Amino acid sequence: MPFQLPACPDPALPERWCVFDQQSLLLLDGRLPGREAADWTLSQRRFLGIHDGHNLFMAELIGQPPPGGDWLPLRAALLSQPAELTQAIARAAQLRQFHLNHRYCGRCAAPLQTNADQVGKHCPSCGQLFYPRLSPAMMVLVYRGREVLLARSPHFSPGVYSALAGFVEPGETVEECVHRETLEEVGVRLKNLRYVCSQSWPFPHSLMLAFTAEYDGGDILPQEGEIEDARWFDIDSLPLTPPSISIASQLLRHGRAMLRGAD
Ligand SMILES: [Zn+2]
Repeated sequence: MPFQLPACPDPALPERWCVFDQQSLLLLDGRLPGREAADWTLSQRRFLGIHDGHNLFMAELIGQPPPGGDWLPLRAALLSQPAELTQAIARAAQLRQFHLNHRYCGRCAAPLQTNADQVGKHCPSCGQLFYPRLSPAMMVLVYRGREVLLARSPHFSPGVYSALAGFVEPGETVEECVHRETLEEVGVRLKNLRYVCSQSWPFPHSLMLAFTAEYDGGDILPQEGEIEDARWFDIDSLPLTPPSISIASQLLRHGRAMLRGAD
């Protein structure tokens, strides 16, 4: 669902608020608050654009949550909401981190000022510009006939396997990253790389680009310390996998349709 980024909210539209405290997001009766949030005692109010037919705002709550309000850790809050809200929450969480983490110039240590258009910050002393950071990362679903290669990292929940993933290094293309990470993590070579989809994921500021690729040789050799286990699974007999709004889940749905279609 695309964002529109006008300078001001559209008064004809309903509102959606991402209200934060520490690392938590406020849900009101299990949902993101609407216009009622504008009456609460808030700081750092910002309009973040129009998304899904709503003016999207973020702020910090001062004091106690209102009746029906609950603080949820960001990840739990994100996973509890409908998939169409993932990107709105991702935008709010990443811009909040940007404002929290860019208060002073990294070059000369002067306090930063927000740009007039509210996008990014600048240093009034040395002129350095700062914009919200995005970290491109890749995910790849490797297939071989009807099988897909899934792996577990030591920090995954028990029993969960996912497609391979890793961050793009400076100077590297995303495609090169896919080949390098796959070779490093499981010792496998790839061919027929195909782009599938992408997702913004605010932990802390990933832009995940998802691919499929065909196995082209090598025996699975899990990278010590990074990969606890990696193996081939039949596409119709998968282990536990990440939640349905994750890009890993989208990629697996795509892979299932693709591999069944190839029968
Ligand atoms: Zn400076």
